Amino acid sequence: MTVDPARLEIRTYPDEVLRVKARPVAAVTDEVRAVAHRMIELMHEAEGIGLAAPQVGLPWRMFVAFVPEGDKRSATRVPPDAMREAMTFINPVLSEPAGPLEPLNEGCLSLPEILGEVVRPSTITLTATGLDGRTFTLTATGLLARCFQHEVDHLDGVLIIDKMTQISRLKNRLAVRELERSASH
Ligand code: ZN
Repeated sequence: MTVDPARLEIRTYPDEVLRVKARPVAAVTDEVRAVAHRMIELMHEAEGIGLAAPQVGLPWRMFVAFVPEGDKRSATRVPPDAMREAMTFINPVLSEPAGPLEPLNEGCLSLPEILGEVVRPSTITLTATGLDGRTFTLTATGLLARCFQHEVDHLDGVLIIDKMTQISRLKNRLAVRELERSASH
């Protein structure tokens, strides 16, 4: 095993790994499973609903998510917009988006203190491989659909500060600059 999962930690902007286009995971190995379990742990500790591998310094196409039922951040209560347990998505691919575009405030564990409105389709279908090596497809709405799109963006090096509305960009300008400044010292 080349990665020590115990040493993984959440990277914050402007860490360069957040801007890398992640590469596909070749096989679901013990290493991949160990990394996924550590990512789930880190996500829970940080009280997030999703965490992508680049956010822990690994340019792998993989993310974990846990959007519990009735989460206060959930936009709708229409299933399936929630999960019973944390899930891992390896080599995820989003289908053509469906449903109306809707704005929602998004945060990101790699962008502390930043919250910005991002417009995304309300429904999405995602195909991915699970930790058992099986491929599955899920159609999601509400916060879960939002989470899937946010996490897949991470795998392409895209962050909410790239996508947020003009007003949110202005609102967060100082906070973004502050992150950049603290990293350069
Ligand atoms: Zn994020």
